[in-house]
Amino acid sequence: MRSKKFNIKLFIGIGFTLLLASHQTDGQTSSLKDSKTPKLVVGIVVDQMRYDYLSKYYAKFSENGFKKLMNQGFNCKNANYNYSPTYTGPGHASIYTGTTPAYHGIIGNDWYVRETGKTTYVTDDATEKTVGSSAGGAGKMSPRNLLASTIGDELKLYSNLKSKVVAVSLKDRASILPGGHLSDGSYWFDSGSGNFITSTFYKKELPTWVTIFNERKLAHTYLSKPWNTLLPIDQYTESAADDNPYEGLYGKEKKPVFPHDLPSIYNQKDFGIIRSTPFGNSITKDIAIAALQGENLGKGPYTDLLAVSFSATDYVGHKMGPQSVEVEDTYLRLDRDIAELLTLLEKNYGKENILVFLTEDHAAAYVSAYRRPCSGLCISGIN
Ligand SMILES: [Zn+2]
Repeated sequence: MRSKKFNIKLFIGIGFTLLLASHQTDGQTSSLKDSKTPKLVVGIVVDQMRYDYLSKYYAKFSENGFKKLMNQGFNCKNANYNYSPTYTGPGHASIYTGTTPAYHGIIGNDWYVRETGKTTYVTDDATEKTVGSSAGGAGKMSPRNLLASTIGDELKLYSNLKSKVVAVSLKDRASILPGGHLSDGSYWFDSGSGNFITSTFYKKELPTWVTIFNERKLAHTYLSKPWNTLLPIDQYTESAADDNPYEGLYGKEKKPVFPHDLPSIYNQKDFGIIRSTPFGNSITKDIAIAALQGENLGKGPYTDLLAVSFSATDYVGHKMGPQSVEVEDTYLRLDRDIAELLTLLEKNYGKENILVFLTEDHAAAYVSAYRRPCSGLCISGIN
């Protein structure tokens, strides 16, 4: 029998081969007969998470978030992506299919299609329609460009479609690709309405639990107060000064410094600003929790999968750079969100019935101006 302490796993890198590795490195025999099948697998992808954030921010993490995964799980420290470019689309497709772009077909976030002479976005699908928002084409999407099956697809094929698979993220591609072809529902954030939406590829109407979730108008709530640092700002010693010429500005603010006055930026018609704040992760955590109950995940006879991708880390990282106070604060707040999710999973399912993995889809390089400090003329450059 494997020790209970291995039931929560932290994978930094690609998941599949590492799952096997964790069995081997337990130093104990493991077979189909004696390995307990989890009721629920929760896959967590943190968009643009550098591996060194685990140690860099460690002292400020809570006990039940990243630290719990690191200390009670299995941490694969030398995992690498063996393809380029490591963008969000290829990353999510590779994590959930276990293969590389040459095979799963997701070679970028956009690419040129020789047959049509046009460029396509990774999950664009003009044959589908938006479900959950009356405005725009944010839901004209599907996984049809994905040429391989995902973990969830294989679970469903094995169980004669009795396993349930649900995926949630701010980003369409970070929900659609992990959910795969047989997803019971992949949901992503629509900036125009502030709703989580889906497409007709999955269903004609939002399920009641998603409609109820949208009626809570959490995006509005999160954007109705300024973004201040979680801890006193002088404690963010791992990061550069708050005010730097290469950081992006929120709305019409004059300097890229805390507090970021979200209520003055947010105009109640476009909720997109939430993506570039840690509250974009919080609302993703909220809908992940709503999905557990709404879809009755982990309560059936076969293993279910909930795929959660936290994308706000990527938007904040692009805007401010890896050395910013904003990125540090986003990770400290994400740590608390992950802690809330893990605590709820353990309470509702029991530690022995769940398997959690956490990984990233790609990392980020330092801002060039940060790598070459200069007193006067700094050229802005965010990767
Ligand atoms: Zn990404």
